Amino acid sequence: MGNTLLDAVVFDFDNTLVDTKSTIEHAYSRIFLHMSEEYNVSLEAIRRELAAVSTDFEAVGNYDRMQWFDAILTNLHVNFKQVEVEKYVNDFYSMIESPKYDPAVESVLVSIKKLNKKLGLLTDSDYKPGTKMKRISKLPFARLFDKIEVAGDTIPYKKRTESPFVIIAKDLGVAPDKTIYIGDRMDFDIKNSKKAGMKAALITTYNDTRGLEDVVEPDWVVSNIREVLNIIK
Ligand SMILES: [Mg+2]
Repeated sequence: MGNTLLDAVVFDFDNTLVDTKSTIEHAYSRIFLHMSEEYNVSLEAIRRELAAVSTDFEAVGNYDRMQWFDAILTNLHVNFKQVEVEKYVNDFYSMIESPKYDPAVESVLVSIKKLNKKLGLLTDSDYKPGTKMKRISKLPFARLFDKIEVAGDTIPYKKRTESPFVIIAKDLGVAPDKTIYIGDRMDFDIKNSKKAGMKAALITTYNDTRGLEDVVEPDWVVSNIREVLNIIK
């Protein structure tokens, strides 16, 4: 049965189950090189705008690259057409369709299921409805989840509040206080899952420091996906 205080394990997706950070970095490099040549602006200027734009958008949980790239090009004062932004955005999302991830992910999820725990995935939407779910469904371990919710898409609220955490516990038929959420962001993941009454573990594999200024105590800190089993067993 494993840890009898826990009936369910719910994971965040980006930078928790998959290495979104380096996958995205790779896509940025290729797209920004294109932008630099197309509009005759330096890569440094594009990176500077990315830093400013991402700080503003991430603070409110907006990951829609259509809005990001539009804002970057607008702030660079270059002459661009909407159709060109759309091309960059389509390229971006197709480049991140096969993210890198720790090969242990699948076996860890299988072990959790063998301990008779419900398995959930709760992630924020980052583009048009349906696109995030499509991306997740392509990964071989997606089939192991009892329930996948894309906050802001399959359910109306993003992870900026505790609502989606309450909803996925309900989906899985478990009490929030017998559920653990595992995520990389101190603000949305740890703070709001705890607000919903869940236990929370911060995963530091990809060293995401966003939201670390929020003073919340995760119940556990793990440095990789395999260590999650130490909590559940
Ligand atoms: Mg994440």
